Amino acid sequence: MTPPEILTDSPSGHARAAAILRQGGLVALPTETVYGLAADATDDAAVASIYAAKGRPGHNPLIVHVPDLATAERLAAFPDPARALADAFWPGPLTLVLPLKPGHGLSPRVTAGLPTVALRLPAHPAMQAVLRETGRPLAAPSANPSGRITATTPAHVLAGLGPRIAAIVDAGPCRVGVESTILAPAPSGTRLLRDGGLAREMIEEITGPLIADTTPGATLEAPGQMSSHYAPHAPLLLGGTPQPGEITIGFGTTPGDLTLSPSGDLAEAARTLFSCLHTADALATARAAPAIRVALIPETGLGRAINDRLRRAAAPRD
Ligand code: AMP
Ligand code: MG
Repeated sequence: MTPPEILTDSPSGHARAAAILRQGGLVALPTETVYGLAADATDDAAVASIYAAKGRPGHNPLIVHVPDLATAERLAAFPDPARALADAFWPGPLTLVLPLKPGHGLSPRVTAGLPTVALRLPAHPAMQAVLRETGRPLAAPSANPSGRITATTPAHVLAGLGPRIAAIVDAGPCRVGVESTILAPAPSGTRLLRDGGLAREMIEEITGPLIADTTPGATLEAPGQMSSHYAPHAPLLLGGTPQPGEITIGFGTTPGDLTLSPSGDLAEAARTLFSCLHTADALATARAAPAIRVALIPETGLGRAINDRLRRAAAPRD
């Protein structure tokens, strides 16, 4: 099998990525949150190949990325307070689950047959350039095998998906480092489906108190919220006293073999989270370590998204 083309973050790299996407191919693209595994969201076969490459269950719908608000408004309705949220936080790490409009043209696989679609307008210039050049909405879940550690660098993408994809646009590590926050806006109250790169506190300034709906595995509406996810090969433990032989990941004053942020900065911890987990997992395998143990992270701001990922990484496997 052929390894993916490594494309530069340049007009010629973006043009090549767009050409592959328009022919129904899979391209890993940088976003400000994590690397996305992109395909033309209107092409049923291309969308099916995302699920196949990731080994992702077909009932777990994909986020659709758009270049601008006008495209988003052609695809979906914006019940209050969706427009205010889009105005405040797009482009950025926020996904809105919205009712599909008739004639949307998206592959039904993208939404796993739901009457709603998850839309995002990403802030990364490379992703924006490829979206404009392709001229199609792009379905893009994280560019890693389903259930494994999220990819935030081209090396993670290559190690996880390798020859299953046609190309990778290399724009270095992602700035935010955790996936987008997912909201379902409604006049009766906005539900929080997943904590992510946009902190709850900022959203609540616009929406008032959010209705938390993020319990792992609890809802049918967000079937992607499975309990075991982001899993390293070694067992992951949260807090507690390190035992001999474990690989430790520190934070702030809690030391470790690795650290999420020596200064205890949550934005830095979000940015380094998945790279630390990838590195810790490789170390654990090399040293036959019994476990990876991570320091406790405050449950505030981006700490909520970090803790959500860590709890799922630590959850019992199916
Ligand atoms: P991922 O692409 O793995 O970052 O996950 C996308 C997340 O968005 C999953 O948790 C999905 O369940 C959720 N999602 C996507 N589309 C919808 C939708 N129409 N309704 C509710 N949740 C959705
Ligand atoms: Mg993912």
